[in-house]
Amino acid sequence: MTDTDLSAFATDPETLRTALEFADPATLMLVLVTLTGDHSWLDRARPHISGPSSYQETMPDHLRSEIRASLFEVLMDYARNPRPLPPIPGGQLLIDMLETAAGTPVGEDYVAMMQEDLQPADIDPRGMVWRKRPPQSKLDAFHVIIIGAGVSGMCAAIRLQQAGIPFTILEKNETVSGTWFENSYPGCGVDTPNHFYSYSFEPNHGWSHFFAKRDELWRYFEAVADKHDLRRRTRFNTEVTSCTFDETRKRWTVTARRADGSNFDLDANVVLSAVGILNRPKYPDIPGRESFAGPTVHTGHWDAKFDWHGKRIAMIGTGASGHQVGPTIAPDVERLMIFQRSPHWVVPNPNYFGEVADGKKWVLANVPHYARWYRFQLFWAFADGLHSALKIDPNWPDQDRSINQQNHRHRIFMERHMKAELGADSPLLEKVIPPYPPYGKRILIDNDWFKMLKQPNVDLITDGISRITPEGVVTADGTTWPADAIIYATGFQASKMLAPMKITGSDSRELHDVWKQDDATAYLGTTVPGFPNFFILLGPNTGLAHGGNVIFMSECQVRYVMMCLRELLEEEHDCLDVKADVHDRYVAEVDRLHSGMVWSHTGLTNWYRNPAGRVFAVLPYRLVDYWRMTSEFRPDDYQFA
Ligand code: NAP
Repeated sequence: MTDTDLSAFATDPETLRTALEFADPATLMLVLVTLTGDHSWLDRARPHISGPSSYQETMPDHLRSEIRASLFEVLMDYARNPRPLPPIPGGQLLIDMLETAAGTPVGEDYVAMMQEDLQPADIDPRGMVWRKRPPQSKLDAFHVIIIGAGVSGMCAAIRLQQAGIPFTILEKNETVSGTWFENSYPGCGVDTPNHFYSYSFEPNHGWSHFFAKRDELWRYFEAVADKHDLRRRTRFNTEVTSCTFDETRKRWTVTARRADGSNFDLDANVVLSAVGILNRPKYPDIPGRESFAGPTVHTGHWDAKFDWHGKRIAMIGTGASGHQVGPTIAPDVERLMIFQRSPHWVVPNPNYFGEVADGKKWVLANVPHYARWYRFQLFWAFADGLHSALKIDPNWPDQDRSINQQNHRHRIFMERHMKAELGADSPLLEKVIPPYPPYGKRILIDNDWFKMLKQPNVDLITDGISRITPEGVVTADGTTWPADAIIYATGFQASKMLAPMKITGSDSRELHDVWKQDDATAYLGTTVPGFPNFFILLGPNTGLAHGGNVIFMSECQVRYVMMCLRELLEEEHDCLDVKADVHDRYVAEVDRLHSGMVWSHTGLTNWYRNPAGRVFAVLPYRLVDYWRMTSEFRPDDYQFA
């Protein structure tokens, strides 16, 4: 069934009627308004919707039934009298719909983006459209190299393929999917809901859970790669070691190493780095680390043979990875000793473990507009709806606890959850309640972390680690914690962006010399002056600290890069290079905005900042701002050759 062919409903109305019972009433109401333009449904539902999540909707049963019955009739009418569906609303009606869905003011900033994002997936408005398509012979003579076949590299490859631009992907792993191939630790999964964490042009209505685990995510990306036949153009087990720009030829030479250690060169007009930033495991600099006698493993480089069953396990690190590993292995270990340097804020989510009912999957796949409105609700709950909670209000008192009123409400909510889980007088509370405002470090979803902490075989150790010995871990107070194995959940070398590749641009300048002191910068997180035709996907200041997901960011960036390539190819330029002043102004603005965000709070450590304290990794903007900035290409920002 396509989005406008609803005739199957006419032959089997009962399936539709039954499935609607499994769908979220607020989302159904938004579909109803989209199809009818009838504003009165918004007026009736609004008082009962306090936020975008399903558990924030409290409509009375009779209103829910009316919505389902009315939508059923409207859809049946389309089934019996086939005709085009109405377009996505605009203007004030769309704003009212967005605000009712979000349960909060949203504003007109979102209208243009949502008119795009609410389009059915088969329309795919983020694809590149030629203004004056160059002859195929010209395209055939052009070559793009993509480094990495992960989330962003795959997105780029799909767009290049759609545009008819030849490309080769060089991938160090044996398969596609990047992070979802590499991360295979127990409990690994997303903490952003899947119906938002998926390509806008490749929706998956069959996710088994709202928050899928790693294998299902991996299968999704593998399936997308197969559907678009990306493997044919990918050289696996091939690691890029250097990229060198030839000033005379205006082309890049990309040197790569095969699995057997031999090297080869490829020639390219354009290089897209799509290597991500969270993929090189970071081991802690603890004295004696190498002396440990038992097996060790890092979450980011898990060994499938690592066996934790019945063992005394020391786990160092309590970030997003540690929070997933701990509760997963705790029931099977003899003892789990968790070494926590600093606590994280942890938010409960009633849907975190939830399975998606078959009826809901059916509605997502078959009821027009439902999946897209649901995606908006998730976008608001897990991304831009949170942004204002992270801006420092200079007049807010006691900035060590919270930084504005909304942020304070988050604090109260999470503290209450911790107390409910652990007991109001639990001695653990002192260890787990962070001494910094919510969102100062990456927020985590409660993965039964607190339930795990209450288990008799689990210790939460907050004394600093002084050394590691062959027998185990020794803390600052002199206690030895004997262990059979150590799990390092200590994160990634985020600030070593693009390492260990050597990227040499114009005037033989090396990118890592330009980015002194781990200080990566790029215009829109994508282009660096002096590195013509070199684009960085998920580059500096594109990580997400307020929410959102890398797929959304990749789609925005790839669209922007495709506009750059269109300019090159249509206007017959050899290369483009971002102007230094444009880059510098952008970076200055990013820094200015970051100074007013919670993660710049003094005394905090997080992977967003480099050793000098500059926030190099994450975006200060709302996603809608980044979408807007990357949805147009301004030739004036670049020098062309
Ligand atoms: P991380 O957030 O950087 O956490 C590293 C942990 O190791 C922190 O608790 C850190 O303590 C601790 N640590 C580092 N060095 C230490 C030392 N020398 N001694 C003691 N403790 C030390 O790394 P991660 O958990 O792998 O997560 C990284 C990012 O990957 C996340 O923020 C997220 O963006 C992504 N991720 C996402 C998911 C998901 O569900 N979607 C899952 C996993 C990872 P301090 O806090 O004191 O520095």
